[in-house]
Amino acid sequence: MAGSTAPLIGVLALQGGFEAHEQMLQGLGAQTAEVRVPRDLEGLDGLVIPGGESTTMALGVEREGLAEPLRRFAAAGRPVLGSCAGLIMLDREHLGVMDMRAERNAFGRQIRSFEADVQIAGLAGGPIRGIFIRAPWIAEHGEEVEIIGAVDGRPIAARQGRVLAVAFHAELGRDDRLHRLFLGLVERSLAGADAADGGR
Ligand code: GLN
Repeated sequence: MAGSTAPLIGVLALQGGFEAHEQMLQGLGAQTAEVRVPRDLEGLDGLVIPGGESTTMALGVEREGLAEPLRRFAAAGRPVLGSCAGLIMLDREHLGVMDMRAERNAFGRQIRSFEADVQIAGLAGGPIRGIFIRAPWIAEHGEEVEIIGAVDGRPIAARQGRVLAVAFHAELGRDDRLHRLFLGLVERSLAGADAADGGR
């Protein structure tokens, strides 16, 4: 990010694995801020919704009055990355930011947690090692949702405009390419802010 100011990325920090996302983003030169109340969204260039427990996270979002501000944030064209429970939070039955329905704990009881190499469309350098922990898959989706990765034929990564969602924990391990892809969306949104976002 030479020559430009580091983007400021918020990480929803009500519950779950937000710290590992912050570390990965910082390692890539971004500034980070923890989001717990609507005011924390001000001035952010992008937002990460981490893994955790979507029921607890959804309760926290309601309690803090964050649902509508989060929807507005995404609707304004600011990039959002959701991972695992974060993917669930983005679906129709939660924030409704993506036109899809996540199936929770979809991989079943026997294989609650596993690792798999996932080929993500648009990600150069071969498959990414995905860490799946009681992960969801995408059970249904509308036309605007592009499936960019699958495991055993099940969609586990998707993109809708500037919103990215993956069912695995991209923040664990050393491979930071998904966060790079996300920061690329942030950079493009900042560069094209006038045209794409109606000016900011
Ligand atoms: N199973 C969790 C849920 O339903 C998600 C697990 C995770 O984020 N690792 O919210």
